[in-house]
This record gives sequence, structure tokens and C-alpha cells, in this order.
Amino acid sequence: MSGEGDQVPVKTSGPEPTPGMGPFSDTLRRLRETFRSGRTKEAEFRISQLEALGRFLEEKKTLLQEALAEDLGKFTKLNSGFIRKEPLGLVLIISPWNYPINLTLVPLVGALAAGNCVVLKPSEQSQSTEKVLAEVLPQYLDQSCFAVVRAGPQETEHLLENKFDYIFFTGSPRVGKLIMAAAAKHLTPVTLELGGKNPCYVDDDCDPQTVANRVVFFRYLNAGQTCVAPDYVLCSRETQERLLPAMQSAITQFYGEDPKASPDLGRIINQKHFKRLQGLLRCGRVAIGGQSDETERYIAPTVLVDVQETEPVMQEEIFGPILPLVTVRGLDEAVDFITRREKPLALYAFSNNSQVVDQVLECSSSGSFGGNEGFTFLTLPSLPFGGIGHSGMGRYHGKFSFDTFSHYRACMIAYPGLEKLHELRYPPYSEKRKNFITWSLNSQSCTIL
Ligand code: NAD
Repeated sequence: MSGEGDQVPVKTSGPEPTPGMGPFSDTLRRLRETFRSGRTKEAEFRISQLEALGRFLEEKKTLLQEALAEDLGKFTKLNSGFIRKEPLGLVLIISPWNYPINLTLVPLVGALAAGNCVVLKPSEQSQSTEKVLAEVLPQYLDQSCFAVVRAGPQETEHLLENKFDYIFFTGSPRVGKLIMAAAAKHLTPVTLELGGKNPCYVDDDCDPQTVANRVVFFRYLNAGQTCVAPDYVLCSRETQERLLPAMQSAITQFYGEDPKASPDLGRIINQKHFKRLQGLLRCGRVAIGGQSDETERYIAPTVLVDVQETEPVMQEEIFGPILPLVTVRGLDEAVDFITRREKPLALYAFSNNSQVVDQVLECSSSGSFGGNEGFTFLTLPSLPFGGIGHSGMGRYHGKFSFDTFSHYRACMIAYPGLEKLHELRYPPYSEKRKNFITWSLNSQSCTIL
């Protein structure tokens, strides 16, 4: 819920809705338009609607009771009870190559903590880690409830023909769709931890060197192969001119005059991704870096300027040490740019003015958000981590992992005796019984009805 006194204009992110079809199209269009206007996000609006719903239930109680009696011949019954968190059963965890230990073991902790049996499918791209996970990890765990499967795309498709009770997938949106389609055949629920393009807005009111240090650090960590890394910067042309020397300075300070010789700069996972990234270097104009060496799968920390929205570097997730700067006229244009696209996994805003950071947060939607900071949010176990829309569904980390791998079973257990009291709920419904039932429901603590 928004904080008190929010004054910022509200917009809602998401791609333009596709026109509806059929007899419900007008209704759906009307509701989508209202959602996009941002009205439903205002706290006052939400409170007013819940109060109106309460008034409806209070004022039309008799009407509703009559309708229920006509339709079903009964009164609704509510009971108090308890939630039993139970393991889901046999779960499949599929992980990517970019943080091959973390992205395999962190979900595994949640699955085991909740009491599930697990099939682990690490990425075949990070072969050495895959080998250790397949050959050594099982020696530490009870193999009657745990297995590691070594499989490429084709074998994984076969694996997915089997029924699992839950699938936890981390990887690309493209494969995420295949996973969800395979899961749907068995009605298996999924968590999809996907990727995409994470925008980073830099306001004119900022200290360029501070912003450059933070953006450079989080962009080029792991050679840019991080799902939550800032994928592109949105800023004014003036801020771009101030940022470029500051970024060059940060790159030199972190990785030296010759970044290729730095032990702190990673390499690209394989030849295929190296070639893809080399292709992206041809977009726009190289302002910093741009060098590459195929023998080492090295790509220098690179900043591109003058890129067009239609160029590949602005169409696909970069997932490498390349950062395009895209110029906008100001905050409104930046927010518009962001909200016209798919909802990202992470969104960043840098400004000395906290209202600007708040406004980017308020006017957008993303899996997570960093204000004047990179992706340190994912180091806090108290925060959930996950995407929204095109960047995924579901969440984990800390207690959220346990909850993800648990079923919340709603339970009601009645006392076997006291039947005289229970009889009060049975038909035929005299006035006295109806009054008792009404009183019980209103008291909100009824465990009889
Ligand atoms: P990927 O989707 O290619 O592969 C992920 C996993 O799926 C691997 O284990 C792979 O073997 C398997 N796979 C590949 N093709 C398959 C198929 N046809 N059928 C079934 N399984 C298949 O992703 P990747 O290249 O390993 O990782 C990069 C992607 O992952 C990026 O998009 C990145 O943003 C995303 N990612 C997301 C997160 C997150 O937490 N949201 C974290 C890391 C990476």
C-alpha cells in the first residue's frame, strides 16, 4: 500500500494490452484502461472500495441470504482452523550457468527445508560445476530422496515429460515458456526466475562519480553475466556527458589501465555467447572499451552511446560487459520508456532527490528495485527475490524459499463431542436458529458453523 501523503502522479507499467475479442472486449478494455490510469493503486481508492464491499455485505445481508437459499438451499458457513505447511512431494530444480552454485543450492535449501524429495538439474554449460554437483554433492545427502541429473536441452525436455509436484526453474524467458508448457500438461505449479532488460534511470541531480562507481561495479561484475545487472542507462544528454568520464575513471580504478590483465574481470561463458556479444558491440557508437579477444573469450568493459531502440542491443538481454546509454529528455520520458516495455526483473534509479527515486518506484513495476544502489537487495534473506510478468513468477530466499516449496493446507478439526451445540446449525431453520447462526457468524470466532 502506498505510504501516507503520496503526491506523485501514478502510472502503471506493462506493455500495451492487446485489443480484446468477443462479447467481453469492451468490459476488459474499460478495466485495463482504469488499471493503466493508476487509480486502483491509490490507498484512498482501495480503502473506499473495501468499505463499499463491507457496506454491500451489511446492507444487503437479507438479499444475499435469500439468494443463497434459492440457489443452494443453505447458509454459508465459516470456521476457524489452522494452516499446516506440508512439503509438495517430488520437486525439480533447473538452474542456469551464470552463478551455477548459488542458483542451484539456494533453491535446494528451501526444497529440503520444507521436506521435499529433489531432482536437481544444473546447467550443462557450466560443465565443471555440473560435474562437482553431480559427483560429489550426492555423497553428502541422503540419495534415497535426492538425485542430480546431467542433461542438455533435449534430455531435459524428456525429463519434463515426467510428472513433478513442483518445478523451480531459473533461466531465460524463452526456455521458461517451454518449462511452463511442459508443467501445464501435469498441472504442475512452477516458479520461474527469468531474465530480461533491467533499466537504470540516472537523474540530472546526482554525483556522476558516485553513480558511475555503483553502475560500473554492478554492470561488469561476473563480466556482466548477471540476471539483475543494470542492462541499460536512461539519462539526459547532459548527464551522459558527465557520466562518461566518470565511468571511464571507475573502470580504470576497478580493473586497471588494461582490464584484460585484471584478475577481477571475468570471461564470457562460451564461444556462442562471445560471438553474440561481439555482434552487439556493433550497435550505436563505442564510447568506452569495445575491445575483444576470441581466444580468451574476453570482452572489455564497454559503454555504448547513440544506440537506437530498434538495434539488437536494446531488444535482447545483453548478459555481458556492455552498457548502452540511452538519452531521454527527463524523468517522464524515462518512466514512459520503462513502462512501455515488459516488466523487468530489477529496476534502478539514481538521484540526490529522494522524490525522484520514489517517483520511479511508484510509477513502475519490477521484480525488485534499487534506489541509488545495485542489486544488494538480493543479499537480504528478509526480502523476497523473484520476477513479475515477463521476468518470472514466484519468489524465494530466506523464509520465502521454505514457503515456495510448501503447501499451505487449510485444516479444520472439530471436537468429536458437544453434538447438542452442533445441532444448532442443522435444518430445519427456525427463527431462533437463524438468529443464533447470524450471531455466530458476526462474532467471527465461530468454530461450530
Ligand atoms: P537457459 O534458459 O538457456 O537455461 C537454463 C536451464 O534450462 C539450463 O539448465 C538448461 O540446461 C535448461 N534448458 C535449456 N534449454 C532447454 C530446453 N529446450 N528444455 C528444457 N530445459 C532447457 O538460461 P541460461 O543461458 O543458462 O541462463 C541465462 C538466463 O537466465 C538469462 O536470461 C538470465 O537473465 C536468466 N537468469 C535468471 C536469474 C533469476 O534469478 N531470475 C538468475 C540467473 C539467470
